[in-house]
Amino acid sequence: MKEILLVKYGEIILKGGNRSRFEKILIENMSKALKNIAKTRITVLQATVYVEVLEEEKIDLVAQRLTMVFGIVSIVKARVCSKDITAICEAAKEYCKNDLVSGTRFKVEAKRSDKAFPLNSIEIAMEVGGFLDDSISGLKADMHTPEITVKVEVRDSAAYVYCRENRLKGQGGMPQGTGGRATLLLSGGIDSPVAGHMMAKRGTQIEAVNFFSYPYTSERAKEKVMELAGILARYTSVVKLHIVPFTEIQLAIRDNCPEQHMTLLMRRFMMRIAEIIAENNNSQALITGESAGQVASQTLAALNVTNSVVKMPVLRPLIGMDKTEIIERAEKIGTFETSILPYEDCCTVFTPKNPTTQPKLSSIEKSESRLDFDGLVEKAVLGTETVTIYPEI
Ligand code: ATP
Ligand code: MG
Repeated sequence: MKEILLVKYGEIILKGGNRSRFEKILIENMSKALKNIAKTRITVLQATVYVEVLEEEKIDLVAQRLTMVFGIVSIVKARVCSKDITAICEAAKEYCKNDLVSGTRFKVEAKRSDKAFPLNSIEIAMEVGGFLDDSISGLKADMHTPEITVKVEVRDSAAYVYCRENRLKGQGGMPQGTGGRATLLLSGGIDSPVAGHMMAKRGTQIEAVNFFSYPYTSERAKEKVMELAGILARYTSVVKLHIVPFTEIQLAIRDNCPEQHMTLLMRRFMMRIAEIIAENNNSQALITGESAGQVASQTLAALNVTNSVVKMPVLRPLIGMDKTEIIERAEKIGTFETSILPYEDCCTVFTPKNPTTQPKLSSIEKSESRLDFDGLVEKAVLGTETVTIYPEI
């Protein structure tokens, strides 16, 4: 008997007239994610996506891969059987036999979307529950605190049986590509990859920009950023990474401006350069990993100073999060271990001892006027190298 993956999606259901467009994008994204994993046939019907895995032994691998596709709420392996109550009972007994051992509290829940099926949902649940109770000794029917819930879905295409407890949780969110396009300032730290993941989860197509200070930061630091982009690409299928040479700008600031303004001046350059790269790539917003009050350059006064150099909206999904919450997310999405590798970032190399926490825009602008801001920006943009990064799985 055949096994299939039933994939449920979440918020797309709320999209009314746009729903089929969202479904189409979700299916394209699923196909992309599975391209190098296994041959599959994907169809959508009645708010469920059906994934037939043509190389059967790869079904668990496929299910696991789908847990990383935005828009999906859950994935479960199910037994396909004919729409006949005897066949459904036998399938439930056989398919859930490892879960339904003696002493287990269980319950059966049924759903019937094929209204031509002779039994209604309650009758199906009672029939299957009664059969399991009679044919497996020691089971305990328990409607309120079951350990195992056997689910039966009778649909137009066939009937499906599975254990709810075997369901894998998906990412949730919206399918990639339904939420515009934005450019992430990706450092080697903990925060920015999490910020990128959060916006990608809302359907935003992500490109990344990294500022790189060779020879002050090593080749290994660049590889670390590429590795982080690769982890993000597991969720988005691909990440375009723009690597911007930043050393000349940092040296110019160091040699011409007050030391306590160093960080904010660097941040203003980063924002402006990122904005130009974003415009060149049709992005509609910038994303940073800033969180209010985390460091001197992230006080509200400092954010005002860095923000005022760009016109594009700057999305800061971590703005209200504590470091511990950010770390939890980093661990969950798989970036934490890479982020804490000890390779220096371009900012850490040039960190002032006493950075301003309550900067005045006018005094920062005065420092900045000692530099050829536009000229340095233009040169950095011209020197940018772009790499396309695919997930390593
Ligand atoms: P992170 O953990 O993401 O490095 P952080 O707490 O170290 O963040 P800052 O160094 O002040 O914070 O940087 C704030 C934000 O600016 C980062 O989250 C990131 O979006 C961006 N940023 C900082 N350094 C770089 C860099 N070298 N390349 C690209 N973006 C950067
Ligand atoms: Mg950083």
